Amino acid sequence: MNLHEYQAKRLFAKYGVPIPDGKVATTPEQAGLIASELGGKVIVKSQVLTGGRGKAGGVKLANDPEEATTAAGQILGLNIRGHIVGKVLIDEAVAIQDEIYLAILIDRARHMPMLMASAAGGMDIEQVAAETPEKIFRIHIDPLVGLRSYQSTYVASGIQLPGGLWRDFHMISSGLYEAFWSLDASLAEINPLVITGDGKLLAVDGKLSIDDNALFRRPDLVEMRDRDEENPSERQARLNGLSYIQLDGNIGCMVNGAGLAMATMDVIELHGGAPANFLDIGGGATTESVTAALRIILADSNVQAVLFNIFGGIVRGDEVARGIVAALAEIETEVPMVVRLLGTNAEEGKKILAEANMVTATTLTEAAQKAVSMVVAD
Ligand code: GDP
Ligand code: MN
Repeated sequence: MNLHEYQAKRLFAKYGVPIPDGKVATTPEQAGLIASELGGKVIVKSQVLTGGRGKAGGVKLANDPEEATTAAGQILGLNIRGHIVGKVLIDEAVAIQDEIYLAILIDRARHMPMLMASAAGGMDIEQVAAETPEKIFRIHIDPLVGLRSYQSTYVASGIQLPGGLWRDFHMISSGLYEAFWSLDASLAEINPLVITGDGKLLAVDGKLSIDDNALFRRPDLVEMRDRDEENPSERQARLNGLSYIQLDGNIGCMVNGAGLAMATMDVIELHGGAPANFLDIGGGATTESVTAALRIILADSNVQAVLFNIFGGIVRGDEVARGIVAALAEIETEVPMVVRLLGTNAEEGKKILAEANMVTATTLTEAAQKAVSMVVAD
């Protein structure tokens, strides 16, 4: 789960990271009022869960409240790579001497958190890594020990930060690491951390990704989720305990188990088809979950056929078949479907499906071929 810049920065601030004063507005008028409260120049920033807002016209400097109102009017409603701006952050603007990149993330290869910094702040770290990898400094953090000052000193000197700022840099890096660790984050990033005109470090941007697997113990963070930013299908899936990822093919897939879902997608492709989604209904294929999953799949207008590939282990084939038949009684659709059931009570299941005039298949190959032919025949 990704948080907005304003949420990330406020959380970072609780761990001692200095951030500019600012507030969120949803209308141009509010933006103007906030700008007059703050006084002086402000920066108006779109709050959308995507990067590169600056380049997309989603970050504007305003000299006075009137300009802030105008800028907010231009930014609110803007479409930034598919994200419609509904909120802007009005921050007091600062003079910038230099921009630094600073992040804590997991190094999966080393199974450890890692601090990463570069003197080329403000730029995409991927671009820096590709073009000038020597500018990036990394150190690994032992979770039992935490971030030591000699480690941040090594990084600070590597990115050629003036010596007078090393102590503050350590404080900010430690704070960011504390935030990362305590909030179950997978990424805590400040890009840029700036050196202001008066020579201080300040986090003017913030990004925080929380590990979805930890959300069960972070209800306070779940509260912060921006529901407007979620794709409606993904939200429905989440609410029904399904894992759903939309892809760009035309064969909708409903499968139980992530491995089976991947195998199913591969076999569809092997037979010249293209999966429209990855959908894992998990262990319990109940009528409710099958109905919810089918609605989600059919909401995708690209879907021209649906393939069910269900392995009955704990869940029984006849139960799944009844679930599918019941779901289809509720959902009106012309989309052709093929069902493959395997495992516990598969034969009983197939009988139920045959009685309901559904196309069935015995092997995955057969199921994939049938689904592909349904799409081609269309
Ligand atoms: P992003 O493009 O989505 O990463 O948004 P950022 O928050 O990083 O803003 C983009 C750029 O705007 C930064 O790299 C800075 O160069 C600039 N910027 C952000 N805040 C300020 C500010 O207070 N003053 C000035 N002069 N520039 C700023
Ligand atoms: Mn940024």
